[in-house]
Amino acid sequence: MNASQILKTCFGYDTFRKGQEDIIQSVLSGRDAMAVMPTGAGKSVCYQVPAMLLPGITLVISPLISLMQDQVKSLNAAGIHAAYINSSLTEIQIAKALGRALQGVYKIVYVAPERLESADFIRFALSADISMVTVDEAHCISQWGQDFRPSYLKIVDFIDRLPRRPVVSAFTATATGEVKADIECILKLRDPKIVVTGFDRENLYYRVEPAAGKQKDRFVADYIREHPKDSGIVYCATRKNVDALYEELTGAGVAATRYHAGIDNGTRKKNQDDFIYDRAPVIVATNAFGMGIDKSNVRFVIHYNMPQSMENYYQEAGRAGRDGENAQCILLYAAQDVMINRFLLDKKEFEGMEDEEIGLVRQRDLQRLRVMEGYCRTVSCLRNYILNYFGEKTGAPCDNCGNCHQEYTQTDMTADAKWLINCIAETRGRYGRQIVLGILLGANRARLREIGAPSYKCYGVLGHRKESELRLLLDQMLADGYVIQTDEEYSVLRMGDIAALKDENTRVIVRSRQKQAEPAGNRGGKKRSTDELTHMGYELFERLRQLRFVIAKEEGVPPYIVFSDRTLIDMCAKAPADRREMLAVSGVAENKFRRYGQRFLDEIAGFLEEHPQAVLSIPADKEAAETKAKMNTGSLWSSEEDDQVKAEYESGMKISEIAEGHGRTSGAIRARLRKHGLIE
Ligand code: ADP
Ligand code: ZN
Repeated sequence: MNASQILKTCFGYDTFRKGQEDIIQSVLSGRDAMAVMPTGAGKSVCYQVPAMLLPGITLVISPLISLMQDQVKSLNAAGIHAAYINSSLTEIQIAKALGRALQGVYKIVYVAPERLESADFIRFALSADISMVTVDEAHCISQWGQDFRPSYLKIVDFIDRLPRRPVVSAFTATATGEVKADIECILKLRDPKIVVTGFDRENLYYRVEPAAGKQKDRFVADYIREHPKDSGIVYCATRKNVDALYEELTGAGVAATRYHAGIDNGTRKKNQDDFIYDRAPVIVATNAFGMGIDKSNVRFVIHYNMPQSMENYYQEAGRAGRDGENAQCILLYAAQDVMINRFLLDKKEFEGMEDEEIGLVRQRDLQRLRVMEGYCRTVSCLRNYILNYFGEKTGAPCDNCGNCHQEYTQTDMTADAKWLINCIAETRGRYGRQIVLGILLGANRARLREIGAPSYKCYGVLGHRKESELRLLLDQMLADGYVIQTDEEYSVLRMGDIAALKDENTRVIVRSRQKQAEPAGNRGGKKRSTDELTHMGYELFERLRQLRFVIAKEEGVPPYIVFSDRTLIDMCAKAPADRREMLAVSGVAENKFRRYGQRFLDEIAGFLEEHPQAVLSIPADKEAAETKAKMNTGSLWSSEEDDQVKAEYESGMKISEIAEGHGRTSGAIRARLRKHGLIE
């Protein structure tokens, strides 16, 4: 078998994704490889497929016990023999597992880095046939990152000890230059094939919603009500917030659970499992939650408070949509969140650090906070803002984020912009936002009187503007680089590069929100694939989801291990009737078919029997979609269907029931009945 055949027969996928094939071909030819791919891009396949083709064992070094367990469950569900060796097992269990590995039972063995130093494990490794060593989460080797693990430094000693050097592959989602260099150098990769796919996660829809106080609670409750079946995480800044929101949601009947460091271990573990096994689809949590969570069907991540850095935000928001299905990342923003974060940073303690170093770290933290604040305030494309920050080149606005879908009013504020520059000049760049805007507005504040503001030429020149308008103007000017905000603790506004402003033709256009952006799927942009399903298709999806839940319970695995959301959606669209058709569904391979296929086929057949005329999905191409739209409005009816509708109505069925059975709108049915004179 070749790699493509393994992908199909073991994992049920037809084609490789970007980057996967290059990595696989490289390691199969004996050349080391390093892949930098964002979460959800499909790194696992890059070592699992070659592991099946290489003669001996692939050893996967992974830092988190829960991730290993999840991967092994997934592999076993796909009929691939794999095991993990970590501290969750007893010594006896470990000895047994290693014994079986020596006999060649497992193609893939997951191991925690600490284990590489244990005498028993080394003995095993010396006599085993190890074809490949894969280092997962390879950025843990770098002291530059936040996740540094000293035990990762020992990996290379371990490899050096092996009688024959296996091919080495390394994987990470963290892409900064230093980290990349560290991985290559510390792991002593030999002329590695390096594959870096973009940082972008196309299936994530980013959104920032201004909301303060109780508005936030209302937003979250409404969102969950509008997406009742979706699994999601709501991150709050503090335990107190978590508890309050949790009470509020459960009080309103939402099946939510919660997680923070103040909850005892046992309950925490139980709550986490309730979430993972879909018993409680929503979890309210502090950022203590999430490390090692591999739940693939998280459909939304809402941040109740603004995080302290883009790094944190991207990691937390990135827990949405790992299965590649569309998911939403929503940040609720109140100006107050910035103050709270400043306060928290101020309180942060630095033990055993030199003053100078503390100063540098503080400055860096404040800078990160400012970047995060910029994300909340920008009116430009949110995706591009993120990608720019992580050093990626960006093109046109993405048309797939809240800001791209937001309608704005545009105001020409060029004249105001010039006054703002004048004000900074007149006050010689000594003041911050509050004071500069206060002067321009001619505000009557003690602090302004104290600095003699009323005698400035600029005092009150923009008194006809609202403060919020001037804030937007200032944000725009900061974004354009006309004004710079310094990085010190008491940051002041300075003049930036204003050459362009002197040109008559330059305009400063400020955009402000007209109304709140609607979620993806209700308007343009890319849609979640359940949107490809009709009402009936979605009903079938619900039934299959229910079946998945039952099977998962029987087998004691999380539902997404049985089949991903994406696979279920594809199953609804294709409505397979037999084995051959079922194997054409993305994510259904031979082994999973053998285990679960028949039950899903039966469920689908049962559904179609109940609803023989059901149209399950909306055809992908536009022409076909138009045809369907016409069908729904009443033309293009076959005479058989017409007769059937008549008969159903006369037998006493409700119009809505008839419509459902035919996959048409009630309006369309009514129009037919009217035509036949059966209703007014
Ligand atoms: P990562 O480790 O990069 O975060 P995973 O390996 O968990 O990502 O893969 C994410 C999802 O994508 C999984 O559900 C996986 O089965 C799926 N996947 C991986 N490769 C493919 C492919 N070639 N075609 C379709 N789905 C794939
Ligand atoms: Zn965008």
